[in-house]
Amino acid sequence: MRVVTPEPWMAEAKCVGRDPNLYETKKIRVNKRVPGSLRQQAYYLCRGCPVMAECADYALRWKQTGVVHAGVPLGLAGENAQQYAELDSIRKKGKPR
Ligand code: SF4
Repeated sequence: MRVVTPEPWMAEAKCVGRDPNLYETKKIRVNKRVPGSLRQQAYYLCRGCPVMAECADYALRWKQTGVVHAGVPLGLAGENAQQYAELDSIRKKGKPR
C-alpha cells in the first residue's frame, strides 16, 4: 500500500510497520524471500488483512500504480485496467466503511 493521505482504517492494516519496499510491484519480482509468482507473492503479502476492501477502495480513489493493494500487484500508469476491475470487485464484496 502507498499512503497519499492517511485514513483511520489504516491503523488496522496488516502492512503497518512493515517495509514499504515489500509492496512495490517491481521489487516483488526480485524479492527472493517470498516464494512463488508475482500474483502469489502479492496475495501472500495481503492475505488475512482485515481492511482489504478499504485498501482496494483507496487504491481506486487515488489511482495507485506500481504497488500492491488488497493483494493485487499494480503496474505502471495505463497498464491497470484489469487490476482496477479486480480491486473494484474486492471493494464491492467487502463493503468498505
Ligand atoms: S490489503 Fe495489503 S496493502 Fe492493503 S492495507 Fe492490507 S496488507 Fe496493506
